[in-house]
Amino acid sequence: MNNKMADVLVVGAGMAGLMAALAAAQQGCRVKLLAAGMGALAISGGTVDLLGYVDGASVDAPWQALPRLPAKHPYRLLGENNVRTALTFLRKTLAEHGWPMTTAVAQGQECNTYVPTIMGTLRPTWLLPPGMDAQALQNARRVLVLSVEGLRDCRPSLIISQLKRYKDWNQRQYDHALLPSPFGATHRSISALDLARLADRPQTRTWLLDGLEKYAGAYDLLLIPPLCGSRADADFLQTVQRKVGCPLVEMCSIPPGVGGLRLRDALLRALKKLDFSALENATAVRAEVADDCCAALEVSAAGQKRQHKARAFILATGGILGGGLTLEPGKARESVFGMDIPVPQDVALWSEGEIFGKHLFGQLGVSVDSHMRPVDDSGKARWQNVFFAGRSLGGYDYAAEKSGLGVAAATGWQAGRMAALLTAENGGPE
Ligand SMILES: Cc1cc2nc3c(=O)[nH]c(=O)nc-3n(C[C@H](O)[C@H](O)[C@H](O)COP(=O)(O)OP(=O)(O)OC[C@H]3O[C@@H](n4cnc5c(N)ncnc54)[C@H](O)[C@@H]3O)c2cc1C
Repeated sequence: MNNKMADVLVVGAGMAGLMAALAAAQQGCRVKLLAAGMGALAISGGTVDLLGYVDGASVDAPWQALPRLPAKHPYRLLGENNVRTALTFLRKTLAEHGWPMTTAVAQGQECNTYVPTIMGTLRPTWLLPPGMDAQALQNARRVLVLSVEGLRDCRPSLIISQLKRYKDWNQRQYDHALLPSPFGATHRSISALDLARLADRPQTRTWLLDGLEKYAGAYDLLLIPPLCGSRADADFLQTVQRKVGCPLVEMCSIPPGVGGLRLRDALLRALKKLDFSALENATAVRAEVADDCCAALEVSAAGQKRQHKARAFILATGGILGGGLTLEPGKARESVFGMDIPVPQDVALWSEGEIFGKHLFGQLGVSVDSHMRPVDDSGKARWQNVFFAGRSLGGYDYAAEKSGLGVAAATGWQAGRMAALLTAENGGPE
């Protein structure tokens, strides 16, 4: 496979790239994915946000709020049915590979859940990982907040004081405790990922099960950092739940993103069953285009530059953080095809004084049509076989809206599907 030309070449290994690869490979395409790094999944909390806010106002029922988004928002370009189908595809794929996610239901309607973070804040999200019990989060009266000796950035007393600021969480009864460190006395600060990796292996996970045993039966809800493994292993989470005899919810943590790594693990497992290959530490530096098609990408890997040809190309290269967008004073550019992104010359207009305000840089990105092909100023597709997905797209601000992995999954799915359709129209997969 490596020596043969791919049907679809995907650039980027975040949620958008992995979903695009899955959608195309499931249609029978030979898919090659190359990426410079792991993408934001490696730092994300691992719940899938669909839509948490519109114009600063919180959203409880995201599907009903979709029509309030601007016409060029990626969800509006795709249409509600496609977004629903894409997220169903994501859920089914994850469930088949060890990671069934759920959505809360209130009064017969699917809704957002406000999940606690290890900073003691609550954030709205849509797809919940195994073990994240929305009912328990809403109704629990006796709550134990646990951390681990030496674990950095997770202080139960701070979490409790912050949670009490929320009306629904104010009247609850709280305790807090520390589990002993499995590393013993050490000067090194421990991350949640260090602990989660211990829980990946049966021979090193007993410290967690033993440590939790003494709290069994005493609480309605246990809140802990994400320690129960870095892989998509819902069975182990169930074992932990049984041990404590009450819902145990892992709080969303700050990076490293144990939750995001579990999603990545399940998606890669799914891809390994398909006609798929990956090249890591590889950076696409330039595109070779002729007329309205792309012929190849020039890729730098291991100190060498090589051309990678394909019949269709999907760019899921992320935003400013991922490397898909390059900024310099007064200019913004897409990194591989070199498309200019219109911005005001005056960089003071790119951001706002208010930290959670409407920052222009948060919405910068490539303009696409409903097939995810980049368009010129007149709305015409620039190239027939080039598709963009995820945070490289403009027209939305994932941080302000809380829509990050939802947009990445939905637009990645669409880009993969459209690339596969093009391949089929041109005579089917090679
Ligand atoms: C700290 C943090 C926590 C978050 N938590 C959540 C959460 O819990 N839930 C949620 O829904 N959203 C969350 N988000 C938002 C969400 O993670 C992102 O919106 C989403 O992951 C973007 O995915 P993407 O695939 O578009 O881009 P990215 O994940 O950024 O991936 C870009 C990929 O492209 C590669 N790349 C870039 N340029 C090139 C190139 N030239 N050649 C080769 N490869 C290239 C990168 O190496 C990377 O693999 C979080 C974001 C952050 C920053």
